[in-house]
Amino acid sequence: HADAAMYQVKYKGRNGVFFYDDELRQQSQNRLQLESELYKALKNDEMTLFYQPKINANTLKVEGFEALIRWIHPEKGMVSPADFIPVAEDSGLIIPMGKWVIKTACQQLQAWRQAGAEPITMAVNLSCHQFSDHQLLEAVEQIINETGVESELLEFEITESVLMQDAETAMRVLNEMKQMGMKLSVDDFGTGYSSMAYLKHFPLDVLKIDRSFVMDIPQDKQDITITTAIISLAKALELNVVAEGVETTEQLEFLRSCECDQIQGFLFSPPVPSEKAGPMIYKPFSV
Ligand code: C2E
Ligand code: MG
Ligand code: MG
Ligand code: MG
Repeated sequence: HADAAMYQVKYKGRNGVFFYDDELRQQSQNRLQLESELYKALKNDEMTLFYQPKINANTLKVEGFEALIRWIHPEKGMVSPADFIPVAEDSGLIIPMGKWVIKTACQQLQAWRQAGAEPITMAVNLSCHQFSDHQLLEAVEQIINETGVESELLEFEITESVLMQDAETAMRVLNEMKQMGMKLSVDDFGTGYSSMAYLKHFPLDVLKIDRSFVMDIPQDKQDITITTAIISLAKALELNVVAEGVETTEQLEFLRSCECDQIQGFLFSPPVPSEKAGPMIYKPFSV
């Protein structure tokens, strides 16, 4: 079989398809380069966190922030996490990077709290490898002790696929996180491969409605139906519900009318550096 496969590859090559091989080689070279640049970036302090507010749908007060990583590349400028998180995941670099994110986010929250801010939450995204890392909980505990942050204000955002890949591990980690006082959110809810059963078994606190369902409200009737259903599901299960990617006042009005708890999106603010995020704590938004 192997010989046959090899022959086919060579045969294809001779028939002019070889340039796909070059493309593949180029791709893996780019990836290797990105990987080594990423490694240096972490060492050289090229990473920073931006913060996007989560706003109470009724009072329009900031109730928390989500920390989102940004890479300020010396030549390329800002690189999107969508482009480098997958590489960090594959290379294992996500573990030290993720710890840096949790620590920096906690330090920032603590700085705001010590400057007099009310209790607001700080959410950190956890990817697949981070979540299954055996040292995660230990690292989090250490960060909480070092920074003095109130664990009740720390929230982790996990996607459905992270929960589903190994339900037993997920259950154990979530239970421990819960015991430590942290809040747990399901990110991009409704887009992953998942089962409804996990909603009742896992100790969750928040559902975040994915942006793809919010985007075409109020024009798209199906999105209206799905969003309404997610909100009532969350209510029935006594979970808080947040809408991501809210960009228009029509979307806000709709979400308010179905009693969505919190709003996140460009309508109020994109993710911003801490200097711009801080003042939002004291000044409610208006529409
Ligand atoms: P996510 O956690 O679902 O974050 C929401 C993404 O939507 C963010 O993109 C945010 O900038 C964007 N967004 C927020 N509001 C709006 C809106 O109104 N309109 C539009 N068009 N977009 C909006 P970002 O920052 O590029 O992050 C992308 C993804 O990368 C995140 O999705 C998350 O999965 C991952 N990510 C970001 N930072 C981290 C991190 O520190 N650790 C890990 N593990 N993953 C991260
Ligand atoms: Mg998130
Ligand atoms: Mg999300
Ligand atoms: Mg999303």
